[in-house]
Amino acid sequence: MLPRSNWTIEEISEIYHSPLIELIQNANQIHQKNHILGEVQICTLLSIKTGGCTEDCAYCSQAARYNTGLNAEKLLSYERVIESAKIAKDTGSTRFCMGAAWKEVRDNRDFDKVLKMIEGVSEMGLEVCGTLGMATENQISKMKNAGLHAYNHNVDTSEEYYSDIISTHTHKDRMETLKNIRNAGVTICSGGIIGMGETDADRIKMLFSLATLKKHPESVPINALVSIEGTPLEDRKEVNTWDMVRMISTARIIMPKSMVRLSAGRLSMSKEAQALCFLAGANSIFSGERLLTTPNPGVNEDQELFNLLGLTPRPSHKEKFQSEVRCS
Ligand code: SF4
Repeated sequence: MLPRSNWTIEEISEIYHSPLIELIQNANQIHQKNHILGEVQICTLLSIKTGGCTEDCAYCSQAARYNTGLNAEKLLSYERVIESAKIAKDTGSTRFCMGAAWKEVRDNRDFDKVLKMIEGVSEMGLEVCGTLGMATENQISKMKNAGLHAYNHNVDTSEEYYSDIISTHTHKDRMETLKNIRNAGVTICSGGIIGMGETDADRIKMLFSLATLKKHPESVPINALVSIEGTPLEDRKEVNTWDMVRMISTARIIMPKSMVRLSAGRLSMSKEAQALCFLAGANSIFSGERLLTTPNPGVNEDQELFNLLGLTPRPSHKEKFQSEVRCS
């Protein structure tokens, strides 16, 4: 049976605003019913086409119009991507996400190259995810045939606050791509960013837009803004730990079966704060020194965190499936 998707904004708001200890405890109970406590998936996110993006997302270092010191690069070669995927696998990642600074996928030679990359990474036994901008159902089907497991397309924030952050495409455009991903039979990875100047109501509405999808996104990344010099959000204050914990707990309660990803912003979080996020239901992190273009804790630091908290890395769906087949 699918988890409920008829949430109201009022219900989500009540959960979000509940006393913190009670909120964490409820989220933890739901987490334990649906997942293995302490099992955390390690993912790697590689930028395969950096910078020069036509869009104006106010938080992004890759928008061509902001002077962030980032140079536009060409699409990485197949060999570079495969080499990075091997390193990711050797250092414990079971999911490999490839990101391109594109407004949308175009049916051209670069897309054909990306299809080959998807094929190559999938053959290595990694869950392959793509984040390449808006895409049609047909394009996502082609990626699925090449071995794509998930497609990331964040809704970022509420529909109401969206135009304050991005003017070159709309929240509706994002929802349209989510529909295309679902129709193509690929799993959805979609979440948001907090700390961009939005209100609690915007955060609640962002979660509402995901939790009321007939089938919830299989993966929900919760990001804390990493403010980048040269972007319109360069002066935003660091997100407070309690806000992250509140968001993660709420996401866990209203989307119980989804993977909740503790994503951007971990570098400035203490180990204690991250531990609270895991207790509240986060069960995935991005590993590696860079998250697309922003700094992230390194592999060794995460290894220490796993040892300290007694976390275990979650196998990829493929490994899980294979071991189930072997056991039966
Ligand atoms: S977030 Fe994506 S679409 Fe927006 S500017 Fe950055 S690369 Fe472009």
